[in-house]
Amino acid sequence: MTRALGFRYSTLSDVGMRRSENQDSGYASNRLLAIADGMGGAAAGDLASATAMEALREIDRDLDPEIDGDALDALTEATARANHRIGELIHDDPAVEGMGTTIDAMLWDGKRFAIAHIGDSRIYRLRDGQLEQITTDHTYVQSLVAEGRLSQEEARVHPHRSLLLRAVLGRDELDPEFWWEEPQIGDRYLLCSDGLPDMISDETIAETLAGENIDVIATELVRLALEAGGHDNVTVVLAEVVGADAEDDENLACADGRPQQVGAAAENPQPRTGLVSSSPTGRIDGSRPAAHDEDPEVLRYAPRPKPRFGWLRGLLVTMVILAGVGASLFVAWQWSQKQYFVGEVAGNVAIFRGVDATLPGLKLSHIDEVSDIEVSSLPTYHQQRIAKGIEVANRAEAAEIVANLKTQAKAPEPEPTVEPTKKPKPIKPKTKATP
Ligand code: CA
Repeated sequence: MTRALGFRYSTLSDVGMRRSENQDSGYASNRLLAIADGMGGAAAGDLASATAMEALREIDRDLDPEIDGDALDALTEATARANHRIGELIHDDPAVEGMGTTIDAMLWDGKRFAIAHIGDSRIYRLRDGQLEQITTDHTYVQSLVAEGRLSQEEARVHPHRSLLLRAVLGRDELDPEFWWEEPQIGDRYLLCSDGLPDMISDETIAETLAGENIDVIATELVRLALEAGGHDNVTVVLAEVVGADAEDDENLACADGRPQQVGAAAENPQPRTGLVSSSPTGRIDGSRPAAHDEDPEVLRYAPRPKPRFGWLRGLLVTMVILAGVGASLFVAWQWSQKQYFVGEVAGNVAIFRGVDATLPGLKLSHIDEVSDIEVSSLPTYHQQRIAKGIEVANRAEAAEIVANLKTQAKAPEPEPTVEPTKKPKPIKPKTKATP
């Protein structure tokens, strides 16, 4: 006769030391543990993760087997709903095209967890002192590891380790993994965004996770990630499996029985255009974030969000048409000459000064520098970006993109894109156990 189980929970999120806003969302209650790491630039990542979390929270209730099916059915449905809502937001506001999120969720059915996983957030389990990552990252580098072309250690420091092959992007194709997890008393589960394992080793995670009090462990994990540099948002959701008859631990915040929500989902981000960014979220040490650097995730996560200067270019064109000649034309031309974009010259990648638009009788851009990178040597995805013109904020960002493209030239298959035409070697989905 197996003993009835329950679990205690804790969650914590921090914006990190480098980013100005938190695009992670975390949630924990006595039924549901969930994490979502948003992407798509400053404009939309938090909206994507909060939207996904809202869809997941809707199954944090007593399920009706007639309507909802079992926990795995409900989780499958909620994940599809998250995808659908993100798709609707993108449809309503094309400025947020390219936003998306990871999802890792564990829904309790009274005996076991139904699990959903898509993206590069992780679930770890500590059982009898052994730490195991029970999810497989849906990343380009992980597909190389699966093919034996990269070691796990090399993958950990690979410059393109954040490139996702699967994510919730609001499109028709959605390829999450679902399975049942049978917990045991004493098991500890950790759901985390990539901002944790990027900063601290599995050994450190295992040691910390073995601590006494899960609230303290959550704080400690986040503190260690910040101390190691805190390059990204970091979010942890913890569960400790206990006997259902175990007394509440009054030292834990979850003793009040209330759900805990952190990160972007707790900020309630609203749909908006691509030019407005949300306010910074809190940090556990109360300090201000460092000056906002150019976000490398914008380059690493594909696809890139809509060009920032789309509306400015529209305004410029309108001004030119309305004014026709004279001062406004000159001002517009002057403005355009302070802009940069990356395009193509005679088959090679090149940096242009000006704007990527044409007006009769007016040259709005000229070549600044032609690189030795042949466009045809790049993955198709990048070729398409270059054909459209990659708009950038300044000359330095243009140079950075060209340097990044150089590393992609003659890139091995599969192409690093979230939308591979060819699937990487399939990571065998864990099968759904029969209830
Ligand atoms: Ca992240």
